[in-house]
Amino acid sequence: MLLDVKDLSIHYYTLSGVVRAVEGVTFSIDKKEWVTFVGESGSGKSTVASAIIRLVPPPGKIVSGQIMLEGKELLKLSEEEMRQIRGKDISMVFQDPMTSLDPLRKIGDQLVEAMTVHGVDEDEAKERAKELLEKVNIPPDRLDYYPHQLSGGQRQRVSIAIAMAFNPKLLIADEPTTALDVIVQDSIMDLIQSLKEEGTSIFFVTHDISLAAERSDKIAVMYAGKLVEFGTVEQIVENPLHPYTQALLNSVPDLWTEKPIKAIPGYPPDLRNPPRGCRFHPRCHVFAEKGELKGLCDAEEPMMIEYEKGHFVACHLYGGSRNE
Ligand code: ATP
Ligand code: SF4
Ligand code: MG
Repeated sequence: MLLDVKDLSIHYYTLSGVVRAVEGVTFSIDKKEWVTFVGESGSGKSTVASAIIRLVPPPGKIVSGQIMLEGKELLKLSEEEMRQIRGKDISMVFQDPMTSLDPLRKIGDQLVEAMTVHGVDEDEAKERAKELLEKVNIPPDRLDYYPHQLSGGQRQRVSIAIAMAFNPKLLIADEPTTALDVIVQDSIMDLIQSLKEEGTSIFFVTHDISLAAERSDKIAVMYAGKLVEFGTVEQIVENPLHPYTQALLNSVPDLWTEKPIKAIPGYPPDLRNPPRGCRFHPRCHVFAEKGELKGLCDAEEPMMIEYEKGHFVACHLYGGSRNE
């Protein structure tokens, strides 16, 4: 086990109320495992990602939970200890590489600095910077370029090169390909895969469940701040249990069956005041159709249960009520 997250809750304390962005999220990532978080916009994927490196933006706060990296409790480390882990044991790439690259400094200098802050000698860092650029297919003469002189795809390659500098134990990639065209997208996915093959575990975020299914080992489905289903790609795609996961899968085109695409009706809730019981109940067709679920789904929160080995779901259809 590399990363073990237990009962993680994160709130944003805004002027208009407390946004319960992440509530009671539990999951783990094994060594060399690729886990992808999917879910609609606002479901809390980026907030979970930022918590792992303890960079939840203000006014957000981790209100409870445990984040263990190889048995080390990250939430108990000092800021200095955490800085040692960021960029070395855990690296991160974002949707927009410009959020991590400094527009005013040459990419070579930024690559070198990513290593020297962790104590690598400058000459060695310069040598390694060239190798890293080659690894992500950027000619080493681009070391003297500024980020704006590169294309979007090349900039993302540079941020991946920086993330690769120390063969991190965990790479957090938050929608790293969303802004790129499909071909460039594929090459970035190849790079992340090559990192995995060298031993890095991947925490990947996307709203596109078909992209998730292509490369990952496991999928985590989030809805309105809750983890609603977690399992291997096969379990989630072949046997989706949660009505929300089923709806997500039905909302993407299937090249093989040409089944009709169905958008998920309604909208995710306002997380300042989430629905009682199951947060999905106002949009759940099963709840709407099954009279006997009234008074359960709209009153009691479903707990996460292990439906089959490694396949977890939080939905009253499979038990998991607090009263059981
Ligand atoms: P997307 O797919 O759009 O990136 P996401 O799943 O990454 O969405 P988050 O960005 O984690 O979702 O947001 C989760 C919830 O927290 C949302 O309701 C969002 O409005 C709220 N939130 C996120 N950042 C802040 C912030 N800085 N201040 C207040 N609320 C925030
Ligand atoms: Fe639907 Fe009830 Fe399951 Fe929620 S708990 S997804 S409302 S059936
Ligand atoms: Mg996000």
